[in-house]
Amino acid sequence: MSSNTERPTVRVNMKAADRVFSGHPWIFTSDVINAGDSQPGDAVRVVDPRGRALGTAHYSSTSMIALRMLSLHAETVDEAFFVKRLESALAMRKRLVTESEAYRLVHAEGDLLPGLIVDRYGEWLVVQLLDQGMDKAAENVVNALAQLIIPAGIVARNDVPARAKENLPQETKVLRGEIPERVHFQMNGLRWSADLMGGQKTGIYLDQRENYLAVRRYARGKVLDCFSGTGGFALHLAGTCEMVEAVDSSPAALATAKENAEANSLRNVQFHAANVLEYMPGLVSARKRYDTVIVDPPAFTKSRSGREGAARGYKEINLRALRLLETGGTLVSCSCSHHMSEADLLEVIASAALDCGKQLRVLERRTQSIDHPILLTVPETHYLKCLIFEVL
Ligand code: SAH
Repeated sequence: MSSNTERPTVRVNMKAADRVFSGHPWIFTSDVINAGDSQPGDAVRVVDPRGRALGTAHYSSTSMIALRMLSLHAETVDEAFFVKRLESALAMRKRLVTESEAYRLVHAEGDLLPGLIVDRYGEWLVVQLLDQGMDKAAENVVNALAQLIIPAGIVARNDVPARAKENLPQETKVLRGEIPERVHFQMNGLRWSADLMGGQKTGIYLDQRENYLAVRRYARGKVLDCFSGTGGFALHLAGTCEMVEAVDSSPAALATAKENAEANSLRNVQFHAANVLEYMPGLVSARKRYDTVIVDPPAFTKSRSGREGAARGYKEINLRALRLLETGGTLVSCSCSHHMSEADLLEVIASAALDCGKQLRVLERRTQSIDHPILLTVPETHYLKCLIFEVL
């Protein structure tokens, strides 16, 4: 820790200062009084209207979020700073992640590193630099990662819409070493491969890792896995259930899922490339029945204003899932939209259950895996809901 007098200073209003005191790292453009001579992506000193220091933040010149606090102290944001933060992120995973070579190593605000995501797939790392500050700090971040982990390759999957708000280009770039076409790793006792350069997100979805095991405790019989992606739920259940149908609209995701099924000699999984919203009604009219139905759709809303439309979408798919379920069956209903709270989702599912005359018992109310930590004072870090019900 050192104070750097040359660092630009940004003066913010009391509203912003109060927000920082309440434990939230974001300061909005409207609460900035004077950005001084801050340049895009600078690590800056933040002060309140009376000049009292609030800490150190990354400055963005274009986003509605002008400042993301990195520390409540005066701090030089260099390689050593990232080594310190990454060490503690890595130590947490080493303590808490079991049975998996793949996990999220850095979950942005959840690891006190706003704007940075790092996913680990064995010897390979995928980073996402989501704001101007992290983009500018890329070299320090990569050097720090290389010091701690000695990876075979690091790729930046900066092909994410969030970067548009920062006026940063959408790109995928190998930053260190080499990234093979397919990367292989173990997770929950199964063999997986992922396409880190071109797959969805950073390769596969890692946030449901613990939920796969939880759902396996209840699932049985005939399983329908809707929005199956690269087959996370489907493959975990194939070993213990009679048969699994996996439905997803992405042929590339399904191709990876198929490879993964073969790598684990799982032969009772059928894959369907289809739009779930059209596929489910067909199953309902054909009077198909399942013992387990999973719905894990993409975020139906990325904003608060879209919540009502999203609620209708969630209700529709849950209603259809319930129509397909036998008495005694298991419904697994997920939402990865932060704007749809657990309470909202429970309400929507209750209303769907009433509409089709079924009663549900809540077996588990789960969230994202532990390697996607939730910061108590930053509600945005809690986004995934995974609710497990029994149909009575
Ligand atoms: N359950 C998956 C992750 C699902 S993410 C896992 O555990 O790995 C959401 C998935 O929904 C993505 O794979 C995406 O391709 C798919 N998708 C999005 N819209 C869809 C639609 N209308 N019909 C079918 N699949 C869709």
